[in-house]
Amino acid sequence: MTASWQEQVSLKPYNTFGIDVRARYFTQAHDDGEVRQALAEAAARQVPVLVIGGGSNLLLTGDIDALVLHMASRGRRVMQEEGERVVVEAEAGEPWHPFVQWSLEQGLCGLENLSLIPGTVGAAPMQNVGAYGVEIKDVFAGLTALDRQTGELRDFALEECAFAYRDSLFKRDPGRWLILRVRFVLSRALNAHLDYGPVRQRLAEQGVEVPTAKAISEAICSIRREKLPDPAELGNAGSFFKNPVVPAASAERIREHYPNVVAYPQPDGQVKLAAGWLIEQAGWKGYRDGDAGVHRLQSLVLVNYGQATGAQLHDLARRIQADIFKRFGVVLEMEPNLY
Ligand code: FAD
Ligand code: NAP
Repeated sequence: MTASWQEQVSLKPYNTFGIDVRARYFTQAHDDGEVRQALAEAAARQVPVLVIGGGSNLLLTGDIDALVLHMASRGRRVMQEEGERVVVEAEAGEPWHPFVQWSLEQGLCGLENLSLIPGTVGAAPMQNVGAYGVEIKDVFAGLTALDRQTGELRDFALEECAFAYRDSLFKRDPGRWLILRVRFVLSRALNAHLDYGPVRQRLAEQGVEVPTAKAISEAICSIRREKLPDPAELGNAGSFFKNPVVPAASAERIREHYPNVVAYPQPDGQVKLAAGWLIEQAGWKGYRDGDAGVHRLQSLVLVNYGQATGAQLHDLARRIQADIFKRFGVVLEMEPNLY
């Protein structure tokens, strides 16, 4: 066995659902050299590879018969400064929220609405992470990835990433691109996004009259801490379903029966429905079956009360999907990556 590989490693500390499955092999990569070495050794031994970051968007339904490669690379830097515009870069294994805080400490604006999202910088482009009206595509300057098919490095510009709502080229072609580092274009001037959910109101409650990027970040952190379970205390992977985007006529049909449906018209004429509202209406909020459940405050979040297996959580998710389809004719798509 390769010196740096461990065998039969519990992945419980490596996924925020806290699911106790085993990796047949496990190793960590701190730099590009270790990434290449792990991939080469796995190829030589014909062992499949699963790359993970913070494990905050995974549902592990059984033991992983592969090499789990945990990205542990670190480093963040200012690359380029031109007037108010500043390009920064971070290595894939950098934890996301500390990176956001570092950018704010440099006096840089752009990432404040994406505060307190768990996970790593390298995974953020996978589903074009988004929150409170901002997605990384709005501040994305480029990334460097390793093509696992050819072993070549490739730089991706914004228009090459096919970013969409919780989606990207990298998510659609799983296992091909290993993201090594990501660049963001930030600004010394604030372009505040305050119109989403309770952000403006929270700032007012905190006595903030002229918001700074740091104040927005703090407001968003405080909202998130109130609404979302902390994975350190209660296993979860954040929103378990994407908000469905449906034709306007379908949304209208739902509104006839449910005048309070939470729906947001999209620029393309379709309508985004709040999946959490649909699940709550269907009576699932706070539901619990053994250790698998639906969070009592936020029905979009499935939780592991302790010993739930990935299969039990998956089964619960399928029951919710079937019920929502029966009641509303709406297909709910899972957000976490299933293995
Ligand atoms: P992992 O879960 O480790 O991996 C996710 C996927 O990316 C897997 O398919 C993995 O194989 C792949 N991957 C990981 N690293 C790499 C890499 N370097 N190169 C190639 N592939 C890679 N998401 C949002 O969009 N917005 C939110 O507001 C948000 N809030 C959350 C709140 C909570 C409490 C939790 C638990 C989750 C939340 N999420 C949110 C989901 C999650 O945090 C993000 O999707 C995050 O980007 C996942 O990062 P990770 O490092 O944990 O990825
Ligand atoms: P919320 O503020 O209660 O809003 C409920 C839903 O309505 C959200 O899902 C959001 O969609 C949508 N919404 C709210 N205001 C909107 C507006 N002005 N225009 C368009 N859509 C609007 O949501 P929440 O659950 O507390 O989450 C707050 C933010 O954090 C959201 O952006 C959410 O996506 C993000 N978040 C994501 C995860 C995850 O795992 N993916 C977990 C926690 C929080 P969108 O989700 O499309 O933004």
